[in-house]
Amino acid sequence: KKRLLQTLKGKENITLDGQKVMLYANVGNIKDLGIALQNDAGGIGLFRSEFIYLGQDHYPTEEEQFQIYKTVAETMAGRRVIIRTLDIGADKQCDYFELDKEDNPAMGLRAIRICLTRPEIFKTQLRALFRASVYGNINIMYPMIISVDEVRQIKAIVEEVKAELAEQGIEYGNPAQGIMIETPASVMMSRELAEEVDFFSIGTNDLTQYTLAIDRQNSKLDKFFDSHHPAVLRMIQMTVENAHKAGIWCGICGELGADQALTKDFLAMGVDELSVSPGSILPLRKIILETDVEAYKKSKQTK
Ligand code: PEP
Ligand code: MG
Repeated sequence: KKRLLQTLKGKENITLDGQKVMLYANVGNIKDLGIALQNDAGGIGLFRSEFIYLGQDHYPTEEEQFQIYKTVAETMAGRRVIIRTLDIGADKQCDYFELDKEDNPAMGLRAIRICLTRPEIFKTQLRALFRASVYGNINIMYPMIISVDEVRQIKAIVEEVKAELAEQGIEYGNPAQGIMIETPASVMMSRELAEEVDFFSIGTNDLTQYTLAIDRQNSKLDKFFDSHHPAVLRMIQMTVENAHKAGIWCGICGELGADQALTKDFLAMGVDELSVSPGSILPLRKIILETDVEAYKKSKQTK
């Protein structure tokens, strides 16, 4: 069976009726890039940058980050690399951030909220990303967004960063910028948010947690954690529709993207990209190549 999958390498991700999908890889560090390429990833759909912060005892400097992002961009050789900005807090604690202990960290000071509270940390990462984007196809993605106002605040900080780099005569690129849709608020605001950004990527791990009000880390709740809950599926559908109305693409980078029981449904919804662990890429390609999306939609209508 493994051998059969190997024969799918180099093939396009296209359905029987001609719908194309991007199959990208989720990676947690530089070492994973080789595995992503071996599995024929068209790009990196989620590069979790927090490992850079978690792996040490001080704030990573601009230069340290620049070298890592540059390596990623060059290794992926022109393929799109979506680097998510800092997502510390909640489950991913980091001592030198000296964050207060919170009763409810999943709903606490985390991710973009830290970046907007402490812009100096955010700006260091943005400078490194804008500089590294000269060396490949880097896209930047912001996590845990809940409002248009946050996106505008981010844009203002980005403008400052660009102006400072320009003034210092430092070369920088023009990366596409998108957001994660992983809070119910961002789903409900997706029509307006789509006007502000270049792409959406749905983080189904957090989106399911916040929609069902079930802690994703509490295994005692597993029997209630229905990852196929229609509320979550409807939210995905709504997000994709609003993305397309504004002319931007929409992917899924949470675990659900790799769920083979849902691949046909994601195709029917028009999901443009699935970013999954490298080992899931070829199995998903196989399903995509065997699917007739229009026929599948009709078969669902008659059910
Ligand atoms: C998600 O929430 O679905 C996601 C992809 O991000 P993380 O799992 O890192 O929170
Ligand atoms: Mg998340």
